[in-house]
Amino acid sequence: METTSQYTTKEALLELYNKPLLELVFEAATVHRKYHNPREVQMSSLLSIKTGGCPEDCGYCPQAARYHTDVEAHKLMSVESVIEQAKNAKANGSSRLCMGAAWREVRNNRDFDNVIEMVQAVNDLDMEVCATLGMLDEDQAKRLKNAGLFAYNHNLDTSKDFYKDVISTREYENRLDTIENARKAGISVCSGGIIGMGEAVEDRIGLLMSYMEMDTPPESIPINALVAVEGTPMEEQKPIEQWEMIRMVATTRIAFPTSVVRLSAGRTKMNMEGQALCFMAGASSIFAGDKLLTTPNPEYNEDMEMFKILGLEAKAPFTEGEKPESKPDPIIEERKRKEAERAEELKAAREKLKSEGFEPRKVTTVDSL
Ligand code: SF4
Repeated sequence: METTSQYTTKEALLELYNKPLLELVFEAATVHRKYHNPREVQMSSLLSIKTGGCPEDCGYCPQAARYHTDVEAHKLMSVESVIEQAKNAKANGSSRLCMGAAWREVRNNRDFDNVIEMVQAVNDLDMEVCATLGMLDEDQAKRLKNAGLFAYNHNLDTSKDFYKDVISTREYENRLDTIENARKAGISVCSGGIIGMGEAVEDRIGLLMSYMEMDTPPESIPINALVAVEGTPMEEQKPIEQWEMIRMVATTRIAFPTSVVRLSAGRTKMNMEGQALCFMAGASSIFAGDKLLTTPNPEYNEDMEMFKILGLEAKAPFTEGEKPESKPDPIIEERKRKEAERAEELKAAREKLKSEGFEPRKVTTVDSL
């Protein structure tokens, strides 16, 4: 991933961000055309595979257990339901599925085994699989990579300075470590931010500087506008002007010319003209579907109409990297081997008893009382 050499300092990026808007958009559009096909926009689907009940305190998030929001907590979806949703998303033109779980961190348990199976199954559908599951260690990242995960999403959200005003239950460094773990495992990194949380423009630039300082900046940088949800500490935040979104997209595009800039949450507050300027300025991905985890998103048909009017095409999967191979997971294979062994032992024991003339005892369960 590349950075643009004249914009590697905070001062230069700030000056760029504050350029007259149309000049900024023109410069971004020029960069975009050099590195990307300007007619292609990826349609991605974001699926909440485990909703709510999160122990973290991210001030913008309705899924944090401590805030009184309308979000109902649900346990992890079944692998079958995820496959069904992925097939629907693909049939509606999505080439990437991002699976989000409201966890502080990944734990090595049966739920994670199920996520591994989801990754394998969705990758087999020829979709780019992205996951956002919270903090991740190196071994967990390797398991996801081995399963065929294309990208791991872990947003830095904002600048290091402003981060403590948004979240108190973890440190900025924790985020950087997880990104590093995904990177080391050979997974493409998706990491971006949210604007409109009450931060200063300098914090938006600070976020970009955090990526600038990485050895390899993220392959994918989602730009979100806060969707202020009732019951969260940020419920009173006023929606940002769409010009701010356009500035942020354009500045990101110029600073990281080869990364994919994603126009993510907050599109419901933008009109088509505003979104068109974002595409012009280098955004080449949207989330399709009427829900973004738990917050609203434009309807599918509205987006199709917008694509038609603007002459955009849905981007095919794996244009920014090869399709990963899904390999068997040694932990799941071992568990399945043990389960099969145990089932065989039980079957043999039952047959032995039967051959010796024992009839199985009738068991009365609570359900049958
Ligand atoms: S953003 Fe993620 S980590 Fe933060 S509260 Fe929401 S679900 Fe939890």
